[in-house]
Amino acid sequence: MLHSINPHTLKEVYSVEEFSKDDINKAIDKADDCFKSWRKRSFAERSTLLLAAAKELKQNKSEYALDITLEMGKPISQSISEVEKCAWVCEYYAEKAEQHLANKPIPTDAKESYVSYEPLGAVLAVMPWNYPFWQVFRFAAPALMAGNVGLLKHASNVMKSAANIEKVFQRAGFPEGCFSNLPISSGKVEDIIKNKKIKAVTLTGSKPAGSSVASIAGSEIKKSVLELGGSNALVVFADCNMEETIKTCVQARFQNTGQSCIAGKRLLLHTSIAEEFTNKFVKVVGELKSGDPMDSDTYIGPMARVDLAEELEQQLKQSVEQGAKILLGGNRKDAHFEPTVVDNVTTDMTIFKEETFGPLIGITVFETKEEAVNLVNQSDFGLGVSLFAENIEMVKELIPQFEDGAVFVNELVKSDPRLPFGGTKISGYGRELSMDGIQEFVNKKTVYIR
Ligand code: NAP
Repeated sequence: MLHSINPHTLKEVYSVEEFSKDDINKAIDKADDCFKSWRKRSFAERSTLLLAAAKELKQNKSEYALDITLEMGKPISQSISEVEKCAWVCEYYAEKAEQHLANKPIPTDAKESYVSYEPLGAVLAVMPWNYPFWQVFRFAAPALMAGNVGLLKHASNVMKSAANIEKVFQRAGFPEGCFSNLPISSGKVEDIIKNKKIKAVTLTGSKPAGSSVASIAGSEIKKSVLELGGSNALVVFADCNMEETIKTCVQARFQNTGQSCIAGKRLLLHTSIAEEFTNKFVKVVGELKSGDPMDSDTYIGPMARVDLAEELEQQLKQSVEQGAKILLGGNRKDAHFEPTVVDNVTTDMTIFKEETFGPLIGITVFETKEEAVNLVNQSDFGLGVSLFAENIEMVKELIPQFEDGAVFVNELVKSDPRLPFGGTKISGYGRELSMDGIQEFVNKKTVYIR
C-alpha cells in the first residue's frame, strides 16, 4: 500500500494498493494500443480534448487544490494557483502544438526536403511531490499534443493527486490509455523502462533518482529527459532597487515553503549594501505567515514530510557548526520549519554546496562582478540564476558567463509555458515547455524527395 500523510496533522489522508506486475503490463498494453489511433488524430482533435482538460481544471480547481494541500501541505492559495497554471499550459499547447511541430522545409538539391516531427509512443513520466499537478501537466500537455501517450509514476506521497490527474484526462474525454496513472513505488520503474512498448522516460526529481533512471534508459538506448535539483543564486548588485528586490527574493526562496527546484537558495549580496539589505530582508521574512496550510492567508505551511524537515534541520546544524550564523528562525516542530535566514555563509559550507529543499536561505557577500560570477558557477547545480541591478547593460555583459540553464534579471526564475525550462550540470538535461519541450519526445524525421 502507498500512503499519503497530511504533514500538518500527521494523519493519513489517502492510501492505495500498488499495481502488481500484471496491472502494470496491462496499463502499458492499453497505452500502446491507444497510441496506434491517437497518433493519427489531427491536432485540432487533440487540441479540443486538451482545452476540455483546461476547462475541467479551472472548473474544479478547488477540489484538486484541496487534495494537494492535504497530501503535501502546500498553502491552499498556492495549490489553487498551481491548478490554474496547469490550465494555462494546456491552453498554450492546444494553441501552439501544430505550429511547433509543423514540417520544417530545408532547401537542398532534392525536389523537396524537410524535417517532420512524429510521436514516439508511450512515454513514462516519473514525477516529484513538490508541484504535484504542475510537474505532470508540463510534461503531459506537450507530450499528448505531439501524439504520444503518457504513463505516470508519481511520488509515493501524492498518489491521490496522481489519481486526480488521471481523472482530469478522463473527464475531458481523452481515450482510454492515453494518459494512465500507475500507483507504484520506485522499485518498479526499472522493469517499466525496459518494457519494449515504453519508448522514452522523463524524470523530475533528485540526482540519485535521475542518475538511476537515466542509466537504465541508457542501457536500453531510450531517450531520457532529466529535470533535477537546483541551488539557484540570487545576485544582488549595489545599484538594485532594494525594496522590489527584497520582495522578489523573499518570494523566490519561500514560496511553496521553499520546496522548489528553482528557488533562490543562495543570496549573494554586494558588500556595500549587505547590511542594510540583510536587515530589511530579515524583517520581511519574519512577517511571513506560517501555519495551517488550509488557511487562505498562510504563506508558509509544513514541509511535505517530517523526514524532509529533519534533513533540512541537519543541513542547517552542519552549516552552523561550520561557522554560519542564524539571523532568523532555525527551529522545527514535526514537518513545520521556521523561515530561516543564515549569514556568514562561505563556499565550503553545506548550505552553499548542497541543495536545501525548504524555507532556509544563506547569505554570502561579494565585492566584484567577477567574484559574483565565480560564486554562482561554483555550484554543481545549473538550473538558473537571478540578477538584480538597475544597470542592465552591465548585467547583459555578464549573462554569457553563467553556466546555468536560465538567467532572469530583476525577476525570480520561474517556469512559463512560452519559455524553455531546464538545467545544466547536475540539474539535468533536456528542456520542457515552449517549442523545445514539445520537440523532446518526437522523431525528428528527415525526408528527402528526389
Ligand atoms: P526524488 O526522491 O528523486 O523523487 C522523485 C520521483 O522519483 C518520485 O516519483 C520517486 O518515487 C522517484 N524515484 C526516487 N528514486 C527513484 C529511483 N531510484 N528510481 C526510479 N524512481 C525513483 O525527489 P523528491 O525528493 O521527491 O523531489 C525533490 C527533488 O526534485 C529536489 O531535488 C528538487 O530540486 C527536484 N525537482 C526538480 C525540478 C526541476 O524541474 N528541475 C522540479 C521539482 C523538483 P518515490 O516517491 O516512490 O520514491
